[in-house]
Amino acid sequence: MIELRDVTKTFPQGKGEGGGLRAVDHVSLHVPRGSVYGIVGHSGAGKSTLLRLINHLEEPTSGSVLVGGADLGALGERGRRQVRQSIGMVFQQFNLFRSRTVLGNVAYPLKVAGASRAEARERAAEVLRFVGLDGHARRYPEQLSGGQRQRVGIARALATSPGVLLCDEATSALDPQTTHEVLALLERVNRELGITIVLITHEMDVVRSLCDRVAVMADGKVVESGGVYEVFSRPQHPTTEAFVRSAL
Ligand code: ATP
Ligand code: MG
Repeated sequence: MIELRDVTKTFPQGKGEGGGLRAVDHVSLHVPRGSVYGIVGHSGAGKSTLLRLINHLEEPTSGSVLVGGADLGALGERGRRQVRQSIGMVFQQFNLFRSRTVLGNVAYPLKVAGASRAEARERAAEVLRFVGLDGHARRYPEQLSGGQRQRVGIARALATSPGVLLCDEATSALDPQTTHEVLALLERVNRELGITIVLITHEMDVVRSLCDRVAVMADGKVVESGGVYEVFSRPQHPTTEAFVRSAL
C-alpha cells in the first residue's frame, strides 16, 4: 500500500553548518494494505517528517515514495493532488477551524475536492454518524471536549473516503480514558472501513492495542521494524529498549 524506497530528506541548515540536517536517512519501509503500522522513536528522530513524506507535504531529497503503487515523484500536479486526497491526516492539536461548525469542518475537504454544498453536507453528516457525533454538527470546536474534537479531526480526515489515514500523535493531548475512546474509533476505521493506518505514538499501550507492525526510528533511520511482538520481545536497539520500558 505504502512503500518507501531508500528515502532521504535533508533540510538546509544555518550558515557554516554545511551538509544540512538529515531528518530521514535512507529509509525503506513497506506498509501492507489494511494494516495498522506504528512509528515510535525519541523526539527529533524524524517521525513526523516521514509521515509528511508519505502524503507529499515534503518531497524526498532522494529515493521514492509509492502510495497504492503510484510513485508520487513521477506524478504530475493533478495526479499528486488525487493521491493526496486518498490520504487523510490527523494531528495532535486537532487543527480544526475555530470559526467553522463541526459539520463545516468535516465538509471542508469535500468542498475543496469539488463536491456541491448538498453533497458535502450529506457526506459530512454520514461521517459524523460514524464517529458518533451526529448530535453535535452545529456546535463549534471550542464547545467540545478534547476527545470530541479529535473525533471531528478523524471525521474530517475520513470525509473524502481515503485509503490511508496518517496519525501524528493523535492521542498525545488526551487523558487515558479519552485516548482509549479514540483508539477504539481508530480500530473501527481500520476494521470496518478497511483503511490502512500509519500512526506515530509515544505510548507503548497504543502500539500494543492497535498496531500489527511497528518501526523504531533513531536519528532519521529505521533501526528496527517488524511484527509488534517480534520487535518488542527482543529489542535490539537502545531506543526500542527505552520504548519497551516506556521511557520515551
Ligand atoms: P517529535 O517526537 O518531537 O515530534 P519527530 O520524530 O517527529 O519529533 P521531526 O519533526 O520529523 O521529528 O524532525 C526531525 C528533525 O528534522 C529534527 O531535527 C527537526 O528539527 C528537523 N526538521 C523537521 N522539519 C524541518 C524543517 N521544515 N526545516 C528544518 N528542519 C526540520
Ligand atoms: Mg513529530
